[in-house]
Amino acid sequence: MRLPLAGKRALVTGGASGIGAAAARALSAGGAHVVIADMDELGAASLADELGGSSWAVDLLDADAVTDARLAGVMDGIDILVNNAGIQRVSPIQDFDPAEFRRILNLMLEVPFLLIRAALPGMYDAGFGRIINVSSVHGLRASPFKSAYVAAKHGLEGLSKVTALEGGEHGVTSNCVNPGYVRTPLVEKQIADQAAVHGIPEDEVLGRILLTESAIKRLVEPDEVGSLIAWLASPDAAMVTGASYTMDGGWSAR
Ligand code: NAD
Repeated sequence: MRLPLAGKRALVTGGASGIGAAAARALSAGGAHVVIADMDELGAASLADELGGSSWAVDLLDADAVTDARLAGVMDGIDILVNNAGIQRVSPIQDFDPAEFRRILNLMLEVPFLLIRAALPGMYDAGFGRIINVSSVHGLRASPFKSAYVAAKHGLEGLSKVTALEGGEHGVTSNCVNPGYVRTPLVEKQIADQAAVHGIPEDEVLGRILLTESAIKRLVEPDEVGSLIAWLASPDAAMVTGASYTMDGGWSAR
């Protein structure tokens, strides 16, 4: 049986953990060679070993790591780019550290732009490419205390659509995936912050804050998002571009 992604080379940022790791596993199961790009050097190397892929140990916030020359080498031959690395900070705007705001915009909007910019020439030459941007329900909806994250994800939605418009005639699609809360370390880390900022106990954060808007009252599993990402990379999704696919248990139906 021919695997849908056989012969393709994928790069997943933040691929050592959570959604990125699940995406790497799903792309690999589809037959792709996967490059795990992550600042967690050991985690990236160990998952790459498990999948028979390769790893790129990189802090994407290090300007020297994302120069044109470095990126040209790394992105050479990449058919599928998953922009996934992300972080979260929960704080009211008046207390939000401007340096943190810039870091989040850099990692979650400017770095995806730089990677897309470096990937497109090769994809255009090949007449094929898949850009998959891990956005969030917060790319489409806002929540209080997440000014940088919501701003970055809304920006990523715009970047993804412009990429879709420019890439269409070259066989390149660009889409966002928009999960609600997913069972990953990123969510586990913010439970204490949410409890503090909302003034409630930690064990009430899931029910009273994170899942209030969802019709289905559970966290999304990383594998469910990985499966959607692998489908967007596949030939079956060739006519899907400029889209944002929610997987939020009905949150954005409101
Ligand atoms: P995670 O914390 O489990 O994994 C993030 C990975 O990114 C880690 O391996 C980390 O080492 C890596 N990373 C962080 N900063 C980096 C940097 N500067 N350079 C290189 N690698 C870096 O997070 P996750 O929950 O899997 O989130 C992944 C993406 O999914 C993020 O963009 C996040 O905004 C998005 N998302 C998450 C949820 C959720 O509920 N978990 C929901 C919607 C969207």
